[in-house]
Amino acid sequence: SVTFDKATRRFPSMDRPAVDSLDLEIEDGEFMVLLGPSGCGKSTCLRMLAGLEDVDSGSILIGVRDVTHLPPRDRNIAMVFQDYALYPHLSAADNIGFALKIARMSRVRARQRVEYAASVLDIEQFLARRPGSLAGGEQQRVATGRVLVRDPRVYLMDEPLSNLDARLRAQTRTQLVRLQNHLGITTVYVTHDQAEAMAVGDRLAVLKDGVLQQVGTPKEVYARPANTFVGGFIGSPA
Ligand code: ATP
Ligand code: MG
Repeated sequence: SVTFDKATRRFPSMDRPAVDSLDLEIEDGEFMVLLGPSGCGKSTCLRMLAGLEDVDSGSILIGVRDVTHLPPRDRNIAMVFQDYALYPHLSAADNIGFALKIARMSRVRARQRVEYAASVLDIEQFLARRPGSLAGGEQQRVATGRVLVRDPRVYLMDEPLSNLDARLRAQTRTQLVRLQNHLGITTVYVTHDQAEAMAVGDRLAVLKDGVLQQVGTPKEVYARPANTFVGGFIGSPA
């Protein structure tokens, strides 16, 4: 599980915290979506969890372990960013296996892991190609594979589909959900797209101005929004 316990992040340039006393518990194997408009603090939450952003007060636990002040590499977390950030000069296979090479895993074992990830993601046929020759959705799957091979405890995705066109987004979204169901990795997924959130989330956490408004299943949040902001954002019938 992942626990945010009154986690707060302030930036000097802002007159309110970017994330304000966030209390949120994410269960093992759960697909949790952080949802809300631009600037509400979604990425800051993910970055705090990943260790890429300081926590000014409160704490963050992974399981029973307090990770609040641990460096990113000690958290057993993997993150996919919006722009994928693949290495253009490496093949898809080498992109996926890069972290394993850094970790000095044997070549044979690394190869097995890469092939396993590629088969789960159905990208075996692209392994020899460089990212520049792959379509957006294919690059997205390579970026996912790069995270998958590391066998993380928690998987973070920040708007991972925003560069894709509508059709590919729907298709890739389905693949991500299938993958997550298959692997059962605890996932925290950020989006400002309420339709996407409803489609992929086991539960949604809706944020506004750094403050958590509601946590619940898509059905619950849709049927019983906690306030008019949530209802409006989700598109609940008035
Ligand atoms: P979007 O949907 O546009 O990605 P978001 O919900 O991810 O938005 P955050 O990136 O978490 O929002 O930003 C929350 C607030 O914190 C914003 O007002 C942003 O300007 C501010 N902020 C984020 N990072 C920094 C930083 N490094 N320095 C100063 N302010 C920051
Ligand atoms: Mg963001």
